[in-house]
Amino acid sequence: MTASMLYLPWVFLLGVCWGSFLHLCAVRIPKGLSIVLPPSHCPHCEVRLRAMDAIPLLGWLLIRGRCRSCATSVPIRYPLSELICGGLFVLIWGGYGLDWILLPYGVLLSLLFVGSIVDLDEQWIPDRCSYGAMGLGLLFSMGYPELHGEMEWIAALVESAIGLVAGGGLLFLVGWVGSWVLKREAMGFGDVKLLAGIGAFLGWEAVLFSVFGGAVLGLLGTFLCMLMGKRERAEAIPFGPYLSLGALVWIVWGLDLWAFYLSIAFPEAAL
Ligand SMILES: [Zn+2]
Repeated sequence: MTASMLYLPWVFLLGVCWGSFLHLCAVRIPKGLSIVLPPSHCPHCEVRLRAMDAIPLLGWLLIRGRCRSCATSVPIRYPLSELICGGLFVLIWGGYGLDWILLPYGVLLSLLFVGSIVDLDEQWIPDRCSYGAMGLGLLFSMGYPELHGEMEWIAALVESAIGLVAGGGLLFLVGWVGSWVLKREAMGFGDVKLLAGIGAFLGWEAVLFSVFGGAVLGLLGTFLCMLMGKRERAEAIPFGPYLSLGALVWIVWGLDLWAFYLSIAFPEAAL
């Protein structure tokens, strides 16, 4: 067992707490509420949670998924998003260990996490997530050129800008062709902006990967929904979460997958 593995339980707990905060952001941002105040409370009767009950994961188990004062059920998505975020932290930690790259990746994944929950809930993505990802992607690229495998900030900034334009341009094109063929809006503009943000952080290769990976995952998800007889649900599935999943897969396994793709597409170059 390596030293970094010893930290795994703590990394998981940190992720669970962070997930709790991100879920709160995702619930409050669309309502135009502050993400700092008021402290955690029941959304139904607005009674403030006791300190013990506000503990991520544990609190939901303590109150057995029901508000203590009005008995309204607290959806399973609260502990679920905390659990997923804990899992994400472990996944990224397992891939990179303690490294500066955790900072930009963590920021991007947090924005995608919040954007995805809002997209699932409301079928739109907050500008704070998409424009936030674009702006922070450019900034992080300058401050940490290694994000794009560069040494110079100016080279990384160019990579980031190319990724941003590629992300915005590609989906815009797909949406434009799609609307022309389907005679209705095929792609939300929120997805376009989110992908531009992914490009700013991860570069154009990740843009391609997120779109195609996201489309494959989206088809799979839609197929699963239809199998389970939830056809109406299948039609309402937004693309943002799938783009985000694509970006996550890229962050964790992207370099391996890209090398694998190149070795198949250009076998002579690998010799
Ligand atoms: Zn209540």
